[in-house]
Amino acid sequence: MGDRMTTVQPTVQQTTIEVRNPADHTVVGSVHIDAPETVAAKARELRLFQPEWEALGARGRKTWLLKFQDWVLDNAEHITDVVQSETGKVRADASIEAPMTAGLLDYWAGNAEAFLGDRHPKPHNVLMMTKRLTTVYRPYPVVGLIIPWNFPFANAALDGIAALAAGAALLLKPSEVTPLSAVEFARGWTEIGAPPVLALTTGYAETGAAVIANSDYVHFTGSTSTGRKVAVACAERLIPYSLELGGKDPAVVLADADLERAANGIAWGGMNNSGQVCVSIERVYVEAPVYDEFVAKLTEKVSQLRQGHDDDKYRFDIGAMATTAQRDIVTRHVDEAVAGGARVTVGGKPTGVGTFFQPTVLTDVDQSMSCMTEETFGPTLPVVKVADEDEAVRLANDSRYGLSATVWTSDTARGERVARRIEAGAVNINDALANGFQFGLPMPGWKDSGIGTRNGGADGLLKYCRAQAITTPRMPTQANEPLWYPYSRRKFRIALGLMRATAAHGLRRIGIKPRGGAR
Ligand code: NAD
Repeated sequence: MGDRMTTVQPTVQQTTIEVRNPADHTVVGSVHIDAPETVAAKARELRLFQPEWEALGARGRKTWLLKFQDWVLDNAEHITDVVQSETGKVRADASIEAPMTAGLLDYWAGNAEAFLGDRHPKPHNVLMMTKRLTTVYRPYPVVGLIIPWNFPFANAALDGIAALAAGAALLLKPSEVTPLSAVEFARGWTEIGAPPVLALTTGYAETGAAVIANSDYVHFTGSTSTGRKVAVACAERLIPYSLELGGKDPAVVLADADLERAANGIAWGGMNNSGQVCVSIERVYVEAPVYDEFVAKLTEKVSQLRQGHDDDKYRFDIGAMATTAQRDIVTRHVDEAVAGGARVTVGGKPTGVGTFFQPTVLTDVDQSMSCMTEETFGPTLPVVKVADEDEAVRLANDSRYGLSATVWTSDTARGERVARRIEAGAVNINDALANGFQFGLPMPGWKDSGIGTRNGGADGLLKYCRAQAITTPRMPTQANEPLWYPYSRRKFRIALGLMRATAAHGLRRIGIKPRGGAR
């Protein structure tokens, strides 16, 4: 099975990366390629400042996160310009990234103190009550964050803000395709005068490998094939990691759905950001009684989308693909489907000077085609007719991926029942992408779509922390304890008798009669 990888390879002796706008191929900037020793030096520097950052506590860090939020809001238009210039997105798609970042800053700044607070578990039996028990959450000193090109500013924020809020220092490595937005992210942190606990490092895979070599925890967002390499590299260093990887998200349209909403929602869920969202809708299963009507509606909606390259005018709905390689994957999937007997009801071809691909609807596809098995990451919606809900669920689950899914029905209770049968980390009912904006919910990838999660309330911060157990005496201590040296038979019999008595007490409390021993 072909695995998508669009990472660009450096040429020999290259020291900088020239960044181009994929919509018209103009050069929009350049960044340095950091050698592994440069990455190591940046990580060492972070380690110097991280203890002070941790010592500030969640309340002290909140001040900086909120200052950064002000900076992001004050610079939102400029951030959007930069995102747009290196991705070829339309204005509407690019303009989401700054407000989403501001929302994340608000959420983690507002909640970190409660999420990171000490926990005091209850002793599990009377004998253990002599101690006060505390679980403390201490951050990994340096979190390495490796991100892709599809949301070059927001992806830094999605996982990076939580790491900073947890008290870690952040070593950020953007995609070689879109490093300029991350340059802005790091510039903002410096401009507000925040402690130097955020370092940017730019380059290709070798730079990414150096990030792994110098971090204590790695969060990776990107393709499944690179994610596997990251997992192996982390395993060799015995450091923890989380992976947010590719998807092949199904939509299930039940016969009782509001077809107008379903067609609008699926057109948007499949086409926004030119289909380059990890949770883009990539396959649609429609119950037979409404199949023809749904295909007609979807085709009509998609035909009306305006494709082009705008500046700040919001004149277009669909922009360019981020790279030529990405556009070529989309072209291959559509061509292979057509060669196998699929029908194009709208679109179907690359177009324009830049890396554009027409918004496309495919019918008469079958489950074995590459457009149904591999991540396409483009503006294509293959639609399949199914006999009933059971067949829809079976085909939706017939994938190596399990990132997210959508269910469309006028019966929301039925929608929830179907959701619980789907093998994916998130299911949105009568909506697309909705869970991604609910930071209290986890955003995990199942199967080949990832390991671990992001967001999800306290879990989103605690993943960047090491738990530490502390026991403190509750009562005056003696010079020696019964179980310490010197051992004696008498001391042992007393101690074991006490333990058996409390264990028996615990068993009785849960309704089990202890055998023999203490009464
Ligand atoms: P990619 O895997 O090619 O690259 C991602 C990052 O990894 C880049 O910064 C790259 O330089 C770096 N990298 C490459 N090789 C490396 C190595 N050996 N060691 C360390 N780092 C290395 O992914 P891409 O093409 O940039 O992004 C698109 C993919 O990202 C899609 O598959 C998409 O589904 C996925 N994605 C997933 C989520 C999610 O939350 N699940 C979100 C956005 C994108």
